[in-house]
Amino acid sequence: MFYRFDVRRPLTLKEASEILHELGEGALPLAGGTDLMILVRERKVRPKVLVDLWELRPKLSYVERGGGIVRIGALTTVKEICSARELRDVRYAGFAGLCHWFATPYIRSLATIGGNLGTGHSFSDFIPLTLVLDAEVVLHGVNGERIVPVRGLYRDKRVLNKSHDEVIKEVIIREPPERSATVFMKFDRRSEHVYGYVTTAVYLQLAENDEILDVRIAFDRVTRRHPERAYQTENYLRGKEFSIDLITYAAREILPKEMRRKSDFRASAEYRLDLSKTIMRRALYLAWAKIVGKPIDIRRFPITEFLRIPPHKRA
Ligand SMILES: Cc1cc2nc3c(=O)[nH]c(=O)nc-3n(C[C@H](O)[C@H](O)[C@H](O)COP(=O)(O)OP(=O)(O)OC[C@H]3O[C@@H](n4cnc5c(N)ncnc54)[C@H](O)[C@@H]3O)c2cc1C
Repeated sequence: MFYRFDVRRPLTLKEASEILHELGEGALPLAGGTDLMILVRERKVRPKVLVDLWELRPKLSYVERGGGIVRIGALTTVKEICSARELRDVRYAGFAGLCHWFATPYIRSLATIGGNLGTGHSFSDFIPLTLVLDAEVVLHGVNGERIVPVRGLYRDKRVLNKSHDEVIKEVIIREPPERSATVFMKFDRRSEHVYGYVTTAVYLQLAENDEILDVRIAFDRVTRRHPERAYQTENYLRGKEFSIDLITYAAREILPKEMRRKSDFRASAEYRLDLSKTIMRRALYLAWAKIVGKPIDIRRFPITEFLRIPPHKRA
């Protein structure tokens, strides 16, 4: 069965918002198409019109750093972000981690950060990373522009807290202070796939005496069907002195109180929870090492911990 849709190619953001406003739910913005075109092909969405934003790339693909702010245009591709000199700093090391895990070179040259945030799915790798960087997005709509924190952008899986005519214009990151670092990790047995069994991003800021001044931890999911922060675990860690014992206790005792994992055909909820504990410890330990400049071996937190516990003894 044929399925027909039109494609409109606006030359300005104003025009894009106007088309989306005029056509309502029948129209959807299209960036690299690496997520949306698969949904269209599988008939999971049936837009009448795709509003192709690619013509806006000359204006909306950039990574700029200055005046204490990093700005990333919504149509910047993953490949461009991965080669951006502006992000070569331990405070933005999470981007390098994300680049290591993100899809294939071909997908990375099409997939955009705006499209990734636009998916609002637990597999959208930029969501946990921008969550821990406390990033904001600029939304452009027919009524003008407004700034929304990424932590307030999602209502549910694939449902964003924005009106239909609003298009993500750019991502804003306020420069994190000295002695801070970010880390992004995704664990899967395969590489180059969308889904990890577990994805995490952490942000850590330390005082000279190793006191945790600030910490943010995000996962592909905590309780809801999109990436979220593990606020209880963060609150437990904040203000304490960083140590392996501390992060191990937080991972084993605090995180499971707030995290509800799901089983599917790829992994059980128990396995995912155990993996979450391990990669949270790995990510925090790595962030600490980046700040203090010490070489470490993250394998001291073995990935297979769960598999070595007999089923009847598992919590
Ligand atoms: C083989 C394969 C591997 C993949 N691996 C990964 C992976 O490792 N990690 C990962 O996170 N993702 C992965 N993906 C998913 C996808 O590539 C990413 O989500 C990508 O960043 C989407 O960006 P895009 O520009 O292609 O968005 P599109 O597909 O064009 O759009 C995605 C959604 O966002 C909306 N949208 C697009 N731009 C905007 C905007 N500026 N404002 C508002 N809404 C907008 C669209 O309407 C649509 O709903 C993979 C996909 C494939 C096919």
